Amino acid sequence: MNARRPETGYRATGIDLAGVSKKFAMKRRQVTALDNVSLQTARGSFVSLLGPSGCGKSTILRLLADLEQPTTGSILVDGRTPNDLRSEHVLGVAFQDSALLPWRSVEANIRVPLEAAGKPVSHSDVADLIKLVGLDGFEAAKPGQLSGGMRQRVSIARALILKPLVLLLDEPFGALDDMTRQRLNTELMRIWTERPATTLMVTHGISEAIYLSDRVAVMSARPGRIQQVIDVDLPRPRTPDIMRTPEFRGYVEQASDLLFTPPAEAAVR
Ligand code: ADP
Ligand code: MG
Repeated sequence: MNARRPETGYRATGIDLAGVSKKFAMKRRQVTALDNVSLQTARGSFVSLLGPSGCGKSTILRLLADLEQPTTGSILVDGRTPNDLRSEHVLGVAFQDSALLPWRSVEANIRVPLEAAGKPVSHSDVADLIKLVGLDGFEAAKPGQLSGGMRQRVSIARALILKPLVLLLDEPFGALDDMTRQRLNTELMRIWTERPATTLMVTHGISEAIYLSDRVAVMSARPGRIQQVIDVDLPRPRTPDIMRTPEFRGYVEQASDLLFTPPAEAAVR
């Protein structure tokens, strides 16, 4: 099958996944983690991947981050391959586990991507980011002295230090309690508005996906496929009270129906 889409000369300016499949070879069998996934996002937009556990959400991010290679299909962002993105240091990633270096201060953790890229450390950039994520006063603290929410703030600041073209977030607040998560989502919205990047966030939180995103790609269980992409036509800037509107609830219902009612095609497989 030809992985490219039929339109000739077409080039997405954001993320462009075309006919992407990913198979993992296990000892006795093969796992198809992704089956013919195509997704295009606009440059600078916030898109979420929503789906049940094991449907391949993290695999999509790992492919974009050049940590895995697709079995078939092509992956481009702004015309660049994941390998280009990595070598140009224009990729920011924050995963569920903040993966901070425990012996380094907040400030020194945020500097890591600059050091790894061999770029000069701008102390004012680091200071601006610390302020942006609301950690002023904690510059010298070690991760062990911070709450889970604060560690995720550091992780997001670290993801932004390279002024990335693409920001990949894998359940960044997944391990936190609901209240902290809610607050951090509001913060993330503010941060993203100030530092726009083409963002792809993985989540299994329906409201959180709708609240944050321009589009929500709803995936189905193994083999991972994109069932439908919901365009979230809610005005920005958004504040938490938008969640009480009928429009917001309509989107939540639409996503829930897709998640909890398997498509007819899947039922007969
Ligand atoms: P999600 O993030 O949606 O929970 P993942 O992308 O982590 O799902 O995994 C999708 C599927 O691929 C799962 O069945 C998982 O077990 C499998 N998988 C992911 N990574 C590997 C790997 N490195 N080797 C073998 N199987 C893997
Ligand atoms: Mg995952």
